[in-house]
Order: sequence, then structure tokens, then C-alpha cells
Amino acid sequence: MTVQAAVPQADPRASYLAHRVEIDQAIARVLAGGRYILGPETQAFEQEFAAYVGVGHGIGVGSGTEALHLALTACGVGPGDEVISVSHTAVATVAAIELSGATPVLVDIDPATYTLDPQGVQAAITPRTTAIVPVHLYGHPADMASLLSIARPRGLRVVEDCAQSHGAMWAGKRTGAWGDAAAFSFYPTKNLGGLGDGGMVVTDDPGVAERARLLRQYGWRDRYVSAVPGWNSRLDELQAAILRVKLAHLDSDNGARQALAGRYAARLAGAGLGLPGSRGDAVHVYHLYVVRDPRREDLRAHLAGQGIGTGIHYPVPVHLQPAYRGRLGRVGSLPQSERAAAEVLSLPLFPELHADRVEAVAAAVLAWARRGAGR
Ligand SMILES: *Cc1c(COP(=O)(O)O)cnc(C)c1O
Repeated sequence: MTVQAAVPQADPRASYLAHRVEIDQAIARVLAGGRYILGPETQAFEQEFAAYVGVGHGIGVGSGTEALHLALTACGVGPGDEVISVSHTAVATVAAIELSGATPVLVDIDPATYTLDPQGVQAAITPRTTAIVPVHLYGHPADMASLLSIARPRGLRVVEDCAQSHGAMWAGKRTGAWGDAAAFSFYPTKNLGGLGDGGMVVTDDPGVAERARLLRQYGWRDRYVSAVPGWNSRLDELQAAILRVKLAHLDSDNGARQALAGRYAARLAGAGLGLPGSRGDAVHVYHLYVVRDPRREDLRAHLAGQGIGTGIHYPVPVHLQPAYRGRLGRVGSLPQSERAAAEVLSLPLFPELHADRVEAVAAAVLAWARRGAGR
């Protein structure tokens, strides 16, 4: 079977079109209102999103990277500290740790879930370790119970990278409500995406919230008076208003992702590919539907030939990227991460994707598998 129309891997425009009337109204309201930065829309969205996550405070900021940077700094992480995280992630995770002044210490992943391996964390702790940054990659929560049982007795801070896990849960509690603080991105393709950049720090700790609030706007407690040295990372009113519309649809959007992921899983069960796994305690929100195979490049080319878009998240682990190689690792230092980088492939998945498109993609994958391509 061939796919007639091009199927993109992600489609943020489809999300806009699905909620167009509401979004256009929200934009018009902001334009007419005359407040464009840190006004009533941002304040309302901060409260609504923090309540959704199940914590007391939300601080809207400029991006997911800045949310991580601010959260780490607000938790007291800085120069001289070591922060344990993963290499198999968006480079932003590691960039944010370096922005805080701390040294990233990258450990391997649990290959079943592509998330931070608690045993690796234990082995990487030194007297300089002050924090752990688990990444809930692809929408699957990291093993928060094990990670907290390592962090709490040692007084380590835990800052969750929730850029791919809006709505995901572990043992009935949402990602973002487990650590001392968490960072969300609202980049357009994320499970909760705006129409531009945006991010949020969420926390239940009033002190962390207060510091993050100061840092995002020049350290101001009172206008024009800097209580601490800060900088500028603010969520704008347009994005906040758009995100309030999208938040109301987040659970149904995640439900659509889960239903499509279930369809892929059923169709691809016999294809011989590695399919995404979900731990018993986890609610996976499928930011991405990631399969794995050593012949990934061949499968990717086969699908491209039929107009099917795929993605690779991510092709080079952070410790082997030119900016970090030698400093944060070398070839062979994180075998599971390096294998994942060579094998993962993200199939088309977004809430507006039609089930018949998923059937067509699955059929194309099965045809490739039957052909035994590349073997
Ligand atoms: C997208 C993403 C970020 C960064 O978010 P931006 O809003 O692009 O700065 C950080 N971590 C992960 C895991 C991401 O996917």
C-alpha cells in the first residue's frame, strides 16, 4: 500500500486549525487589552497550569531551556556543583545545566523507557553532586520513586525536565509534581504547545517560586529595584492566552495520542521492531512514538519514499556532540545512550493525525519489514 498524501511526523498547524476560533478570539482579546507582557493572561495561565500539574506555583518564562535554568538556579544550584542527568535528551537539558554554572554529569538510560537509570545515578554521585535532572523523554515518566529514594536521604535537589511530558503520570501523580521544581516547554510541537516560544517553572516550594519569579525579571521584587541579580525570561500575554485555550484540550489531545499509539502497537506487534514500552506505574502521553531498529536509516528512507515523515530524537547523544565531546564523555562511555541514538525513529504522531494515516504508516513499515530490507 502506498500513502497518497504526505504524512508529517508532527503538525503544529493542525493543532491551531483544530482550535482556531477559540485561539483567534484569545489573540484578539490580548491585542485589544493593551497588556502584552506578564499581565492577566499569564497570571491566569500560571495558576491554571500549576493546578493541572498539582502544585502550588507556576512561573511563566521564555522557553523550556530557561525554565530549567531558572529552576536550577532557584533551587540553589550554581558554579562548583555537579548535576546528574542524561545524554540521550534534547541538548537543551544539558545546556540549561551549564547555564546555571554547574557541571553536567551524564549517565546512561534504562533502554526500556529511555529515561535516567537510577543505578547510573547512584554510581555518579560525588561530594559535589547537588541535583538530579530526570527527563521524562518521549512522554514516559522517569522512575521517580527510585530517583527520589536516592536523592532525598542525600539532600539532593530534583528538577524534572517535563518538556515532553505534559499530563504524564507516575503512580497517579503528574510529572512535574515529584521533584523540588520542574520545567515545562511550550514549544509548538510539544503536547501543550503555543504559537511561539514559552516555558514554565512549577514548584510546590514557595521559596523556590519566589526566587524563580525574581530571577525571570531582573531580580525585581518592586519595579525598577533589583533585590538579586536576575535577567529577563518572560512568558508573553499572547502565548499565555493561546496556551489557556490549548490547556483545556490537553487531556483529550493526550487521549488521542494514546489511542493512535495503541493502534501502532497493535499493527506493528509482528514487525520485529523495538516498540515503546510503558512501565506498570506510568501513564505515557506519547509526545513521540519512537520505534527502534539497527536498520533505522533504511526504514527512514523507505518511509520517506512514500511521503511519510519521520524524526530522529536524537541522532547524536549530547556527550558526543562537538560542543561537549571530551568534556562530558567520549565514545563508549554511555553504551545504552549511544545505541539508542543509532537506532531510534519517531513515526508520525500528533492528536489530529487520522487513524487511517496511522494504518497507512503501519502498513508501509510492515511492507519494509517483510521485504527484509537491508538485511
Ligand atoms: C523541547 C525540550 C527542551 C527545551 O525547550 P525549549 O522551549 O525549546 O527551550 C528541553 N528539554 C527537552 C527534553 C525538550 O524536549
